[in-house]
Amino acid sequence: MTQKTLILLKPDAVERGLCGEILHRFERAGLKIMGMKMVWIDKVFAAKHYDAHVKKDFYKSLEEYITSGPVLAIVLEGVSAVTIVRKMGGDTEPKKSLPGTIRGDFAVHSYDYADNKGISIKNLIHASGTAKEAEAEIKMWFSDEELHSYEAVHEKHTR
Ligand code: AMP
Repeated sequence: MTQKTLILLKPDAVERGLCGEILHRFERAGLKIMGMKMVWIDKVFAAKHYDAHVKKDFYKSLEEYITSGPVLAIVLEGVSAVTIVRKMGGDTEPKKSLPGTIRGDFAVHSYDYADNKGISIKNLIHASGTAKEAEAEIKMWFSDEELHSYEAVHEKHTR
């Protein structure tokens, strides 16, 4: 089933100059860019996006991380996009994520390390967890006018 999903290339991905490298992987897999923008979110928006985590112990550090610099917000579309993108991102904890995944190849943090330092686990990318989450997050981050429908040349083979 064709789906849309939201990804955020977090401040560590932007500051490390990894946006092109990461986006390249998704494009190469056959996922289509429907919308993209750079946003530096504030604490209010962070709480909205991370509503499920606001009451958790690590939220303060997560808030600091996600508001520390601009993020690149992108809507991708493709067959089973939500699952495919999560798979390509790898486990939330870079220490556990497999080589070949984005976090496995480009990040090293662990929960222990982050907790000891009192910082958020830096894992480069956020990706919607379910189709329902994707729908809500896309609405939160993008207006209808910022999303574009067009035909990609390789759709003959990826659809
Ligand atoms: P997610 O909803 O998967 O984007 O999770 C929220 C983000 O919070 C993760 O991607 C990590 O950056 C961070 N995070 C999640 N759990 C922890 C934790 N136990 N300690 C520190 N940071 C965490």
